[in-house]
Amino acid sequence: DTLDVDLGQRSYPIHIGTGLLSRPELLTSIGRRPMRLVTDAHVAEHYLTPVRELLSLDDEQILVLPAGETTKSMATVDQVMDWLLASRLPRDGMLVALGGGVIGDLVGFCAAIYQRGVDFVQIPTTLLAQVDSSVGGKTGVNHARGKNMIGAFHQPRLVLADTGTLATLPQREKLAGIAEVIKYGMLGDAAFFAWLERNMSALLALDDEAVRYAVYRSCEMKAEIVALDERESVDGGAGPRALLNLGHTFAHAVETYTHYTEWLHGEAVAVGLCMAADLSARLGWLAGRDADRCIALVASTGLPTRPPQGMRVDDFRTLMSLDKKVASGKLRLILLRSLGDAVVSADFDSQALDATLRHFGA
Ligand code: NAD
Ligand code: ZN
Repeated sequence: DTLDVDLGQRSYPIHIGTGLLSRPELLTSIGRRPMRLVTDAHVAEHYLTPVRELLSLDDEQILVLPAGETTKSMATVDQVMDWLLASRLPRDGMLVALGGGVIGDLVGFCAAIYQRGVDFVQIPTTLLAQVDSSVGGKTGVNHARGKNMIGAFHQPRLVLADTGTLATLPQREKLAGIAEVIKYGMLGDAAFFAWLERNMSALLALDDEAVRYAVYRSCEMKAEIVALDERESVDGGAGPRALLNLGHTFAHAVETYTHYTEWLHGEAVAVGLCMAADLSARLGWLAGRDADRCIALVASTGLPTRPPQGMRVDDFRTLMSLDKKVASGKLRLILLRSLGDAVVSADFDSQALDATLRHFGA
């Protein structure tokens, strides 16, 4: 299946399905040119051989980096720049990112700045990367003072999401991606949410059809939102793209509390989705029954529905105020008016937020 991210001159296709890594015509459709591929050690172990063949690459055209979030750093950018310059990748050359969100964000950023910008292709191999990070053009690396603090918007020329690669994904990483899939249902499509309720066990078992549909529908929603608000600049950052942050303010508090180590991003998002649903119901917007469905769906996957042991109401208050968006200094949250209908809100009843924090916090 194929869908398009509609961005005028910067439009690009997303191919989704199994066996894509053995279809060279998908890649050569954007022209044959000098290529360099970057991946990480875990992904290389499973998929470097087929992809090297697919692109007919030599060893010198491949860079294998250590796996893990620490690879997403300026030090690695420097290393990649050195490698690209030494091997003289020309300006009309192309970078290929083979891996999860870490490799995708890093390589996308390298492509944005190498000789003021070269093309790149995303071959996402985690569920999170297939439904979220490989689409939309946000690229970047971390800094000691903050996650994703250095970056650029740079859209890929093509996304190749081979859902067959998810077979080797560790269980926790798979669930982390499922949290983002549930997010799409909650924020934009009640029918997709209901589909997830019916098909969650097939999805967890990585049934081909179920995975393909879940990735397709998620990408479709993200593509639609990105086309409306490419740089998250509409309405001063409170436009369509902000809706993708449903549950994320709570999630960032959890991630910061656990120092970005014990919890995966998607695990924190799972809790954040539950808290956003709870708050939306307390405000009288979302039907209580639908909030319960959100929490039950998250719980049915084995993802956490509660914050880490010992995380207190005051921890949330402090950490969430760090997330305040610059405008007016008021906390801005993404909330649900109903299932499948999210809004950005800065003027909700703060007593309802307190009640949610007391309900979830220690
Ligand atoms: P990741 O890239 O670290 O991958 C998770 C782990 O799975 C790694 O150890 C990796 O080596 C391994 N792996 C990857 N594919 C595999 C496969 N098919 N089989 C076996 N192992 C495999 O993490 P992630 O969750 O994919 O991405 C997280 C990153 O994405 C974060 O840095 C986050 O900031 C970023 N992100 C970016 C955006 C965006 O819009 N750009 C959106 C969401 C998240
Ligand atoms: Zn996320």
